[in-house]
Amino acid sequence: MIKVVKFGGSSLADANQFKKVYDIIKAEDSRRYVVPSAPGKRFSDDKKVTDLLYDCYDRVSRGDDFAEAFSPIRNRYNEIIDELGLDISLEDEYAKIKACFEARAGRDYAASRGEYLNGIILADYLGFEFIDSADVIFFNNSGVYDSESTALALKKRLQNVEYAVIPGFYGSMPNDTIKTFSRGGSDITGSIVASAVSADLYENWTDVSGFLIADPRIIEDPKPITTITYKELRELAYMGATVLHEEAIFPVRKAGIPINIKNTNSPDDSGTMIVESTSQKPEYTITGIAGKTGFAVVNIEKDMMNSELGFGRRVLEVFEKNGISFEHMPSGIDTMSVIVHLAEFAQKEQEILAGLHRNVDPDSVEIETDLALIAVVGRGMKATRGTAGRIFSSLAHSHVNVKMIDQGSSELNIIIGVEEKDFEKATKAIYDIFVTQRL
Ligand code: ASP
Repeated sequence: MIKVVKFGGSSLADANQFKKVYDIIKAEDSRRYVVPSAPGKRFSDDKKVTDLLYDCYDRVSRGDDFAEAFSPIRNRYNEIIDELGLDISLEDEYAKIKACFEARAGRDYAASRGEYLNGIILADYLGFEFIDSADVIFFNNSGVYDSESTALALKKRLQNVEYAVIPGFYGSMPNDTIKTFSRGGSDITGSIVASAVSADLYENWTDVSGFLIADPRIIEDPKPITTITYKELRELAYMGATVLHEEAIFPVRKAGIPINIKNTNSPDDSGTMIVESTSQKPEYTITGIAGKTGFAVVNIEKDMMNSELGFGRRVLEVFEKNGISFEHMPSGIDTMSVIVHLAEFAQKEQEILAGLHRNVDPDSVEIETDLALIAVVGRGMKATRGTAGRIFSSLAHSHVNVKMIDQGSSELNIIIGVEEKDFEKATKAIYDIFVTQRL
């Protein structure tokens, strides 16, 4: 059994957290490959080391002195080393990093040092081999992650290494410069390593016990999601349920490896298992609810629209030409609604209106703002009759007006549009009927 274990920034924020991580790893021999993030926040208005490093980079690029900005970084690592009683010094590394900063080594190089230094400390503490991700994770000349060469290099490098620490977040380009994934990208590194070593499980350790059925800022103490499929997760993540980097599921999903989201501060909780497919019946009809505010609807009306060949294409062409992607597009016989993110759309609205008039000669175009979308997601909905009925009657009882409905034929999710002022009320009503009342 091989497990790849990734620990997020809050799991490695200070020496005390390192001790918890040590106990978790040493509790099972199968936890062989460890992917650490950089030290995260220790308290709510603390700074993440990655952000401190970006700050250093900004100072260097402005030509300012960065010594003062570097010292809290050095202090944080030295404090961890001292409190763990380790016998290493990173002074040479700090000097090297400072010299590279002065030589303008780049923004990604700067950010990556958080994971790099944390990896050295963690490897020493665990007695594992340290493998620099620059030697095994590759990006091509355009900065796009290169899965093929990475898989080859990782397999070869790890073949005879039983236990190793491989820092998250970064790799290298063909010219040896350092490149990072987007923020939170250590999740991706963990997934890549898991796929390369054909792990049985990818454990992603963070500071929550997995995904919750609904947002705890709206629902008090929501129930956890014990098992979720990759597809369901995509739907919920799109609506803002974030625990894992969106791109982290692809490498393991391709290799059929499940992900277990676990809590470093509560390691006995089972967390959430993310799987390709499962025979396990979901506990409730729905797996999760997630939603977002900040959408706008462009309602286009034209008599006999349905018989006009190419109408939809010409409408969407206007959005495409203005660089606005659409989220949903429910339509009627003579109406079509295009749902977009308000913040992006607002900057282009007049160009889009003019474009629509030119392209499809509509009878009217109306813009509505303040729309919230709520996705009710669940593989259990497919086998259950009346899910939609229950959702809408619960919303009616709560006096929520439904402005839009969108259900794909996969029956995995139903998306409901409501006014922003009804967003929380609607989420509560749906949670209540399926989870609290278990209908
Ligand atoms: N340290 C990086 C960040 O803060 C990457 C990560 O934690 O996954 O985004």
